[in-house]
Amino acid sequence: MFENLSDRLGGVFDRLTKQGALSEDDVAAAMREVRVALLEADVSLPVARQFVKTVTSKATGAAVTKSVTPGQQVVKIVHDELIKTLQGEGEPDALRIDSPPAPILMVGLQGSGKTTTTAKLAKRLKDREKKRVLLASLDTNRPAAMEQLAILGTQIGVDTLPIVPGENAVQIAKRAKQQATLGGYDVYMLDTAGRLHIDEVLMDEVQAVRDVANPRETLLVVDGLTGQDAVNVATEFNEKVGISGVVLTRMDGDGRGGAALSMRAVTGKPIRFVGLGEKMDAIEVFDAHRIAGRILGMGDIVALVEKAQEVLEVEQAERMMKRFQKGLFNMNDLKSQLEQMMKMGGMQSIMSMMPGMGKMAKQAEAAGFDDKAIRQQIALINSMTKKERANPDMLQASRKKRIAAGAGMEVSELNKLLKMQKQMADTMKKIGKMGKGGMLKQAMR
Ligand code: GDP
Repeated sequence: MFENLSDRLGGVFDRLTKQGALSEDDVAAAMREVRVALLEADVSLPVARQFVKTVTSKATGAAVTKSVTPGQQVVKIVHDELIKTLQGEGEPDALRIDSPPAPILMVGLQGSGKTTTTAKLAKRLKDREKKRVLLASLDTNRPAAMEQLAILGTQIGVDTLPIVPGENAVQIAKRAKQQATLGGYDVYMLDTAGRLHIDEVLMDEVQAVRDVANPRETLLVVDGLTGQDAVNVATEFNEKVGISGVVLTRMDGDGRGGAALSMRAVTGKPIRFVGLGEKMDAIEVFDAHRIAGRILGMGDIVALVEKAQEVLEVEQAERMMKRFQKGLFNMNDLKSQLEQMMKMGGMQSIMSMMPGMGKMAKQAEAAGFDDKAIRQQIALINSMTKKERANPDMLQASRKKRIAAGAGMEVSELNKLLKMQKQMADTMKKIGKMGKGGMLKQAMR
């Protein structure tokens, strides 16, 4: 999900991150693209407008102009603002299912995934919270829908209210309440009838059911693929029936994701769960941080860095540990350490990609740990012969001069590198002496 929005915004920020400094014009240009990206993702116009306005005012503020990586600052502001827009104030609440039997009213249009979601949530309550749940279908117009719920109930091991032909929705709701009370259930869920479109009859019926059931939660199920329509449906249901939250289904599909962004802002109601497939386990609690991360594609970057670290740990650590245990650490070892750092995209890029790490990248640079220094160090090592790399102690004045010249650098730089290698070799020797590498093994984990 969200691939399109992520791609669009990704492109904008790629350009921003390559800027040395960020002017007001840059922000304005970037925000125009953000606005288009949001609209293309089917975010409603007022929401997109408000979003861009907020981000612009924050991005052109003092903190950004002072910053070294303004592009990243903007990404951070957009990221934070996405979370705010997605989740409102604070995290979504857990389902209110205290004082048993707690009624949960499930509402939504036909085909939105309402019955499936009802069963998914029932399974969650049963498996994770050890609740006894009773399911009841109120869709008297469609016997097939009632049967569908009964079948799903059997499948997940949750009881369903026996079907009594001829009852209307209100009668079924009353019977469900009675049965849930007598049967000692913790929760009973009412799967109301859906229509293809919102109409008076439907709303009247849902209202009547609501009045007899007095639900602790009224969850609206909407199809996440329908974008703006989903938001309109939510607005209608909220005005006529009053909802306590939204479940966005089909978020596993290639929808444009804008519905999630608009939903909270337009309806003021939280998204509580997202449906991610047809299977009974394919439902997750809505997580604004994760979705904001996914929209910006930051999750991918974090995963990439983790992967690089894995490679470092497995391939390099094993091989090098054997040498270190013997107290060996020559220029070849140093080189492969430095190369590993570069392989991971260099210190700068790794840190600057992470939200909020721009400052640390700056500090690393001040400590002589920047990409340029690493590249120069590698160049110096490359300029050595095989023998010299294996035995750096043999480097005398004339060899030093040749090596430094070969790398286009000063001998003083080479001396720094030699000192670094010596220090590391000494440390390795010390650690190697301590309990046959046991300490080192620990240190490298
Ligand atoms: P209802 O008419 O609102 O009760 O809709 P149903 O629960 O019968 O669902 C309609 C179809 O959508 C079924 O084939 C479901 O398996 C499917 N469906 C429901 N939720 C999801 C979801 O999150 N992802 C996907 N891919 N399909 C879903």
